[in-house]
Amino acid sequence: SGARVRRAHNKRLPQYLERGVDVKFSDVAGLGKIRLELEEIVKFFTHGEMYRRRGVGILLCGPPGVGKTLLAKAVAGEAGVNFFSISASQFVEIYVGVGASRVRALYQEARENAPSVVFIDELDAVGRERGLIKGSGGQERDATLNQLLVSLDGFEGRGEVITIASTNRPDILDPALVRPGRFDRKIYIPKPGLIGRIEILKVHARKKPMAEDVDYMAIASMTDGMVGAELANIVEVAAINMMRDGRTEITTDDLLQAAQMEERGMLDRKERSLDTWKQVAINEAAMAVVAVNYPDLKNIEFVTIAPRAGRELGYVRMKMDPIKFKEGMLTRQSLLDHITVQLAPRAADELWFGEDQLSTIWAETADNARSAARTYVLGGLSEKHHGLSNFWVADRLNDLDTEALQTVNMCYERAKEILQKNRKLMDAVVDELVQKKSLTKQEFFSLVELHGSIKPMPPSI
Ligand code: ADP
Repeated sequence: SGARVRRAHNKRLPQYLERGVDVKFSDVAGLGKIRLELEEIVKFFTHGEMYRRRGVGILLCGPPGVGKTLLAKAVAGEAGVNFFSISASQFVEIYVGVGASRVRALYQEARENAPSVVFIDELDAVGRERGLIKGSGGQERDATLNQLLVSLDGFEGRGEVITIASTNRPDILDPALVRPGRFDRKIYIPKPGLIGRIEILKVHARKKPMAEDVDYMAIASMTDGMVGAELANIVEVAAINMMRDGRTEITTDDLLQAAQMEERGMLDRKERSLDTWKQVAINEAAMAVVAVNYPDLKNIEFVTIAPRAGRELGYVRMKMDPIKFKEGMLTRQSLLDHITVQLAPRAADELWFGEDQLSTIWAETADNARSAARTYVLGGLSEKHHGLSNFWVADRLNDLDTEALQTVNMCYERAKEILQKNRKLMDAVVDELVQKKSLTKQEFFSLVELHGSIKPMPPSI
């Protein structure tokens, strides 16, 4: 037994092993159906033979920060196996042979300590199609890639090792890498939607002293376009806000402030002239100010002119009773109100800049209005064409088109009238938007209280 002890002592410590990885699927939020696919990978380890033939490599595809690394760790954590990781950019070395020998060492360690998960971050750094990079750097990378291919094939029948790699560019990978038996399974992880963002916030809130009444919906609504890494950061910053003030609970307000900071970080990367900010602000403010008049539409979560990742001129609109909208449950009257709100940006453009200076910033919402007006008239909801008797009569189609146009015009006049009556409110909202880029529900409704010609109660979700 003395010999065995000595051998263990002489063995080099594994360099690529990450110790104490204790991530579970419950730590990764908003997975939806992807979770089933990952559970199957876990079964490779826990049920052995049956899954052994199902390929050795899984490719997690998606933008940075959506939780690919976290997921790979969760697979290892759920299966209770060792986790080895390396970033592919570490392979790409100046000295010939270093990349390849690192890959060899990585897989040797993983096999000696099997069962294990090998995680390769940014696979595209090394897995780009061969021959695309010229010069000696390219040759070195080819040697590394070749070694990776050899290592992927090499362990068949020897310890259980699964390789999980992440990439944002599955399309540029060398075809040899994605051949059956290598990285033959691709799992796409998109940016989280509204519900996903709520879940991610809640996962990170679990370990924090949150106030009972935290409004996760409000935070999720104002973080459209953000990924898990950014949402995790918001919770961390909120905790710092709380501690700095010497309080013991994290409130919705802490989270709102943190979210605004995160967003400003994003904004700093984008430059806009003051005129552009103002024009976008008028566009958004107009919708909010008109919407506030209507019971089904006034459920404004926030108003923002912040550009978002992936949308160059993008800015998120206020959320107006999203459930009713998505489910198509608008009544006849609220459909008309909806058309009016969608025309508000066009009306504001005319009122603030004049007929000669019209832009096309309202093109998208005007389109929404037109299509809603067609639904309204063709669906037999309008005064003239009530009921289905007129629905299928072909020679009435011209009439119906004319009436859709009349509906749009009528709503347009209403939008204009509301904006004219609320000039003070508009100016105040536009000013604040240009300054702060985003207004929370509370901030917006306090301006309505102060300057609005109508004073509705702030709605509750
Ligand atoms: P990627 O590998 O896709 O770039 P990471 O896994 O490194 O992203 O994510 C960074 C951090 O962001 C994670 O450690 C975690 O705290 C948080 N995160 C990202 N996505 C999620 C998610 N879906 N659920 C919970 N936390 C997440």
